[in-house]
Amino acid sequence: MPSPSIDISSSIKSQARSLGFDACGFAAAAPVDDEAVARYDRWIEQGQHGCMRWAEGHRDLRRDPAMLLEGAQTVISLALNYYPSRFQPSDALRVAYYAYGRDYHEVLREKLTELAHFIEQITHCATRPCVDSAPIRERYWAQRAGLGFIGRNNCLILPGKGSFFFLGEIVTTAQLPPDEPCTMTCGDCGKCIKSCPTGALHDDGTVDASRCLSCLLIENHDDELPAWVGEVIGNRVVGCDSCQLCCPHNAHAVSTTVPDFEPTEAVMTLTRERIASMKPGDFKRTFAHSAISRLRYKTLQRNAVLADGGKKA
Ligand code: SF4
Ligand code: SF4
Repeated sequence: MPSPSIDISSSIKSQARSLGFDACGFAAAAPVDDEAVARYDRWIEQGQHGCMRWAEGHRDLRRDPAMLLEGAQTVISLALNYYPSRFQPSDALRVAYYAYGRDYHEVLREKLTELAHFIEQITHCATRPCVDSAPIRERYWAQRAGLGFIGRNNCLILPGKGSFFFLGEIVTTAQLPPDEPCTMTCGDCGKCIKSCPTGALHDDGTVDASRCLSCLLIENHDDELPAWVGEVIGNRVVGCDSCQLCCPHNAHAVSTTVPDFEPTEAVMTLTRERIASMKPGDFKRTFAHSAISRLRYKTLQRNAVLADGGKKA
């Protein structure tokens, strides 16, 4: 197996930058360390994954990137800024920034696939791009690859840049020199814990997804949500950004350079009236290329009925 030189590493990072990625780092593709595995297993056993049943599966794949690509040597971790330059008007029901524009799965997949082809050409090694849905511990690998650290809000925080970043990975059989893992921590700050409207964040850095609005409004498709949700939902209908917006690391977030992540017309005009008058076919057409399509029509209607029923966010 060829062992790419430092020039190949620089070429890969430079190509990542030219594709718009804001950070790119390498980690050796060893199995996930025991402590991280134990933490994840405990989180599942305690039922803190809430309605995200998919989190229970593929634990062997999550543990070892070599299970995703035979002979894997390196996990390349990449971050793409999605912080918008324009925001919803005050009469629109709130959509989390990650769902403002075009579905990030589509955008990231295109960019990762292009980078993976480039890597294959210059290293003659195999690659496997992973976008969110692949069972890989993306924040773990991003920390190992030196991109940032995992904050108490459970987001990957890029020092000096914040947390409004999509993460993607390319697992490859190319042996690339690993970057230094990021050793920063949140220190004494606990702003996100205090800002969370539902008490979903814990001091030990875990999140109880069964109480997290981001999970409840998007992943839970029950006809009704627990009554207490109406007291804290504010004007949110898609996700929740509260534990990111309060984070000091996001105080100087700069806008994305990816036009696809700016808010669509549908998001800018997503009022209660607009949602109430929306038919299923209309929903499907409007959000065909949006992460909002993952909510389903009925879930958006349910959330809109609840939104603003309680106190403001
Ligand atoms: S997304 Fe919202 S509800 Fe979930 S942990 Fe963060 S602040 Fe709390
Ligand atoms: S708000 Fe403070 S504790 Fe929470 S993630 Fe940001 S730095 Fe860490």
